[in-house]
Amino acid sequence: ALIAQPIERPMAGKLAQPQTAGVGVTREHMMRALAERQFSLVYQPKINCREGQLAGFEALARWEHPELGALMPADFIAHAESFGLIDEVTVLLLEEGIGWLSERINDNRLTLAFNMAATTLTRPAIVDCLLQLCADRAFEPGRLIIEIAETGATQDPVRSLDVMTRLRLRGVRLSIDDFGIGYSSLSQLVRLPFSEVKIDKTFIAAASHSSEARSIISAIIGLARSLELETVAEGVEDLASFHQLKSAGCDFAQGYFIGRPMTGDAVMTWMGQPAA
Ligand code: C2E
Ligand code: CA
Ligand code: CA
Ligand code: CA
Repeated sequence: ALIAQPIERPMAGKLAQPQTAGVGVTREHMMRALAERQFSLVYQPKINCREGQLAGFEALARWEHPELGALMPADFIAHAESFGLIDEVTVLLLEEGIGWLSERINDNRLTLAFNMAATTLTRPAIVDCLLQLCADRAFEPGRLIIEIAETGATQDPVRSLDVMTRLRLRGVRLSIDDFGIGYSSLSQLVRLPFSEVKIDKTFIAAASHSSEARSIISAIIGLARSLELETVAEGVEDLASFHQLKSAGCDFAQGYFIGRPMTGDAVMTWMGQPAA
């Protein structure tokens, strides 16, 4: 509802018959979930490698389905896209995340990263919607990071570039997610207004036993630095891996070693603040 422009549903025809998919999620389920706010976020902390200080969080979607139980993004994000409901889901989550951080966490340096689907990135209306959500909470747009999967910006390059540029001009930071596993990496990095590169966790996981993975990580960090982009490593699961990334010059680290994705209340306990 917050996105004023009509939302196209390119897949609607294909889904005309049985509106079910995968685990038995239907479009009707999802419509009800939106109305009843069954979607929520968990937050995973990210630290600055040099100082070891908390830098912010990545917001990750969860769906408390009344019949199917707790669903992970892999169980419903693709369905939301094919049902033409991903924009609504995204806006609801943005509202929740920005509201939570601005209300509950008393540190206005912390950033909040959201994942955005490629299709949402082609909607010009998302720019004003996002800025309005920030304004409503007096939340500085520069604290928002929009993570876009490496392949995300290639679907409709002209329109995504327009949306990305407009977000960037208002201070919103853009992160290229899962970097290294796609194909058009280099050209995208140079062409699009990214602020940050998020190194895919497959490289981080392989680094302890693969010198090849370590070389790729170093190459990504070097490339990012020469383009004046910050680097984030995801999937950092142990101290050795953290040390390796730190000495390779990675700027930020996120993963189970630093903290699991947590509910808002659990984050406050984790930070040593009283919950609720
Ligand atoms: P992602 O953006 O690559 O997110 C990181 C995923 O890695 C999360 O899974 C997180 O729980 C997991 N993870 C974090 N630390 C570690 C670690 O140390 N080791 C390992 N093995 N895994 C770790 P999750 O929450 O299941 O999310 C999966 C994917 O779903 C995300 O991958 C993201 O692409 C997508 N997603 C999540 N929330 C949203 C959303 O609100 N909108 C959209 N469009 N996509 C979302
Ligand atoms: Ca992400
Ligand atoms: Ca990622
Ligand atoms: Ca990933």
